[in-house]
Amino acid sequence: MARSSQAAAATPLGSLTQRGSRAGIRCRMCDSERVTRISMELTDGSQVDFTHCLECEHRTWQQGDELLSVEHVLSRARKR
Ligand SMILES: [Zn+2]
Repeated sequence: MARSSQAAAATPLGSLTQRGSRAGIRCRMCDSERVTRISMELTDGSQVDFTHCLECEHRTWQQGDELLSVEHVLSRARKR
């Protein structure tokens, strides 16, 4: 009983997660969808998303919808 209900719950959840993670993430330079997205927390506690394009090597840092400069992120990460 436990085994069958577990499988039923895992299938729709898995497909939802895959679809959601692929949608909407594109490189701002070349519009490619071949990007790596990493979420991390800076030393001051702010949550940022790092996006790295595999096509053109362009990198962006974002906090929510706000685009951050690399200098901005590095200076914040260094601050204690
Ligand atoms: Zn790109």
